[in-house]
Amino acid sequence: MGEILLQRKLDKRSLVVIGGTGPLSPRQKWEAIPERFRERILQNVWCSHCGNAVEIVSYRVYSAGRDIVLRGRCAVCGGEVARVVEQS
Ligand SMILES: [Zn+2]
Repeated sequence: MGEILLQRKLDKRSLVVIGGTGPLSPRQKWEAIPERFRERILQNVWCSHCGNAVEIVSYRVYSAGRDIVLRGRCAVCGGEVARVVEQS
């Protein structure tokens, strides 16, 4: 939760710029997902370095067409990880 609050302070402006054309910024799309689902997603990101599903930390939210992408670091090895969150 600390990560999200920190991100809210630091990246609000840049995320809106990245979000660009849509009515909702990537951050808003992400925060529209119920917290229990967000937690499940954050705890289950594939790390190619570990060869396992890990927790993502220090992540940012980006747009990818209609979907959003979380990019951050593996909680285990610190390597870069990313996960697409499909928007239905
Ligand atoms: Zn890892």
